Amino acid sequence: MKAGGPLASIVRRYQNMTDTEIESALRRGQLSLVLQPIVGSLSFRPAFYEALLRLQMPDGSIRRAQDFIGPAERSGLVGALDSRALELAIALLSDHPAFELALNISSLTTSDFNWIRQLDTLTLGSRGHLRRLIVEITETAAITDIDRTLTFIDTLREMGCRIAVDDFGAGHTSRSMLLRIAPDIVKIDGKFAAGASMPGQQRDFFEGVVALSREMHFETVGEGIESEATAQAIADLGVTYMQGYFFGSPDNPVAALTAK
Ligand code: C2E
Ligand code: CA
Ligand code: CA
Repeated sequence: MKAGGPLASIVRRYQNMTDTEIESALRRGQLSLVLQPIVGSLSFRPAFYEALLRLQMPDGSIRRAQDFIGPAERSGLVGALDSRALELAIALLSDHPAFELALNISSLTTSDFNWIRQLDTLTLGSRGHLRRLIVEITETAAITDIDRTLTFIDTLREMGCRIAVDDFGAGHTSRSMLLRIAPDIVKIDGKFAAGASMPGQQRDFFEGVVALSREMHFETVGEGIESEATAQAIADLGVTYMQGYFFGSPDNPVAALTAK
């Protein structure tokens, strides 16, 4: 079948959600957060959780963030999604006083001080909530005003939140920008995970980030870990935390994590 034929359009429609579908889910309250554990590399036990957005379609099926965050960034709807995710995350922190959560925000939100005002309003400035929130940011071309973004980050820090730089090594954030941001946590992109168990460029990259982070007092997360062998290899490289399907799917309902 030629490219752009009927199958291509069905696949495109299935993968990329439309503005109407996203707006309708926002209106109907059909967004939720799922949690994926981030484990200590010595204990292999959950230290905190990453919150990932999910959207329920009218037919009941659930769509992953990767299907709607990109389109929402292009259409400008991502601000409303990040705002909803924040409400859901603060509700989780209130319901589960032992939880620490990492929440993603779009690079478009990293200069939106309304998001910080909303955080302040939702938590009533409670340090108890704020110090259990880690805000994950990714630098992309969308960050045009770096000074404003650095002020955004400093404000969150002063409020008591921690900052994680997401997907480091994927090509969005340079080493010099990492040093300027000086995050609490560096998340090493999952594309380096599989190569960490053998000598080569991927392991060299991992070792370089871990060494730099030690020197700068950043914690590290190895992302995208899918097997025990990879987990052991990455733990041996000295990362602080690890995350991936091997340790837990992000699609367990929150209730499953809190059930005794
Ligand atoms: P991310 O922050 O890098 O999140 C990791 C993505 O990889 C998630 O996809 C997760 O389900 C998936 N993943 C987890 N472990 C593994 C693994 O071992 N192997 C592989 N291959 N994948 C794994 P998801 O949930 O579809 O999210 C995609 C992206 O959407 C996220 O990438 C994040 O950038 C963005 N996102 C998620 N929630 C939000 C949100 O509330 N706001 C914004 N602005 N972006 C969000
Ligand atoms: Ca993330
Ligand atoms: Ca990531």
